This record gives sequence, C-alpha cells and structure tokens, in this order.
Amino acid sequence: MPSIQDLIERAARDLTNSKHAIALTGAGISTESGVPDFRGPDGIWTKNPEMEERAFQAYSLFTKNPRKYWEQTLNSPPLLGDLSNIKPNPGHYALAKLGNMGILKCIITQNIDNLHERACSDKVYDYHGNAFKLRCVICGTRYGLEEYDLNALNEAGKLPPHCKSCSGIVKEDIVHFGEPIPSDVAEHSTAEALACDVMLVCGTSAVVYPFASLPQIARGKNTGQGITNIGFYNSGVPTATTIIEINAEPTPLTEEGISDYLIQGKTGEVLPEIVREVERLIAKP
Ligand code: NAD
Ligand code: ZN
Repeated sequence: MPSIQDLIERAARDLTNSKHAIALTGAGISTESGVPDFRGPDGIWTKNPEMEERAFQAYSLFTKNPRKYWEQTLNSPPLLGDLSNIKPNPGHYALAKLGNMGILKCIITQNIDNLHERACSDKVYDYHGNAFKLRCVICGTRYGLEEYDLNALNEAGKLPPHCKSCSGIVKEDIVHFGEPIPSDVAEHSTAEALACDVMLVCGTSAVVYPFASLPQIARGKNTGQGITNIGFYNSGVPTATTIIEINAEPTPLTEEGISDYLIQGKTGEVLPEIVREVERLIAKP
C-alpha cells in the first residue's frame, strides 16, 4: 500500500510529464475557506432543510414567474451566506501556481464562490455559474452583479432585469437544480475532458451530474469511443489519461475504478505538497 508521500510524488511526476493537465474541483476545496458544503455535518441543508426545498424549486419558479423568483431571491439570505469576505486557501493558490507554471491548462469548478478567480487562476470554467454574476437566458451574456441595481428595480416594480444586449430575461448566473448547464461552459468542459492527459479531481463527491460525467468522458476516450453531452464521439487514437483524486474520502470514481488513484486528505494540504514536489522535479538538473 503506497504512502501519501509516495502518491504525492507520483502525482507530481504525472503532472510534470503531462502535456495537457486540467483540474476539476468541488465544494471540498472551499471548506477550508469556511464555505460550508451541502450535506456534511455542518452542511447548509443538514442545518436548514427549508433551504434545500427552496433550492430545488428555484428554477421552476424562474421559468413560471421570473418576477416572483427575483423577489424571493432578493428577500432571502444567499444560499452559501455572504461570500464577499471569504478568501482563497492554499488549495486554490496551489492550483493557480500550477497554472502559472504552464502545467495546468484550466480549472472546471462546480463551485459558485469565485475563489479560483480570486486566487488568480487564469482559465476557470464555472460549471454551475458564479454567485457574483448574472446571465441572460436568451443570449448567454454574463454581467457583474454591480451592473444592475436589483434593489432599485425591485422598489420600482421593474423586476425581472432585462439583458442590455438582447432584452432577454436575466437570472442569477448560478445553475439551479433542473436547469441546463450553460452551453458554452458545457462544450468547453467536454472538449477539455477529451483533450486532457492528466485530470486532477479535487474535493468533490462526484455524484452531481452532468459534472460527474467529465471523468467518465476522460476515462472513456482511452477506449477510443464513448458518449458525451454533446453527442457520440470516437476519438480514433486512444489517448491515455491519468485521473488523480484528492479528496477527504473515497467517492464513486474511486470505487468504480474511474480514477487511477486517490490521495486521501485535505486539498489545502495535499495540493501545496504536490506543487513543492513539482518544483523540486523541475529544478533537478
Ligand atoms: P459535495 O459536498 O457533494 O462533496 C464534497 C467532497 O469534498 C466530499 O467528498 C468531502 O468529503 C470532500 N471534502 C470536504 N472538505 C474537504 C477538504 N478540505 N479536502 C478534501 N476533500 C474535502 O460537493 P460537490 O461534489 O461539489 O457537489 C455539491 C454541489 O453543491 C455542487 O454542485 C456545487 O455547485 C454546490 N456547492 C458549491 C459550494 C461552493 O461554491 N463553495 C458549496 C457548497 C455546494
Ligand atoms: Zn441577452
């Protein structure tokens, strides 16, 4: 049984030898920044089941009555609390550093907390949207929260907000249950899963779909064929992909053999160790 140190060294070698490494992240990478997850012991829904009910109904309310959706959104506390004062942790900074070194080509995150962007990672795909943005549901244009005075629109009875480009209805950028993943992000993410030769999967229970299909797409292309959310593909030449999980506990990816190996631990501790080891390998004459 390899030790954690053996696995950290193995991950560093895999990253150093890679041509197109990418990272997938989930709520686990942000718990060390103080952002709660949903279903853990301190999870938002464990403590407040009403929030779960509201989250499940949000998209259906938006499609039926966008004004009511916005009134409810503005009159309720944000799902993850006040995210404006939270800070990236060593896990976010380690991934940003791998990006700066030219090793990590992009991050695909389920998190809506903007922490990868705040850690200065360059190419971040917010798979489930970003809590600091709004999005037009017709043309897909994204706006910073500061670009609309939502409270003034509410007071003037002018909700929902409308797109400055196409006049379509604007919603929060975050993707609600039952809402399709925005097509630009879905297509880029699938393309990255097909292109990568190393995939780091950090702090996710890998049970929320379609995000959890990305490691399966990367694994499936090893056989040269499979199915993606943009249709059938046959990559022709199989490309080996190494899938490395960094998580506090095993996940279905571990149990079903989709990942090559799991480094069991905290992302805020393991990822900086991997970066130190990569630096040591690169500095070697
Ligand atoms: P999840 O809560 O289902 O799973 C988190 C995983 O990370 C668990 O397996 C847990 O054991 C592990 N974990 C927790 N802390 C860790 C740490 N410090 N180091 C390593 N592993 C750790 O999260 P998910 O898979 O991302 O799915 C939940 C959904 O909820 C996502 O769709 C996401 O959009 C949303 N969400 C986002 C945030 C955020 O933006 N920070 C927070 C909560 C939920
Ligand atoms: Zn628009």
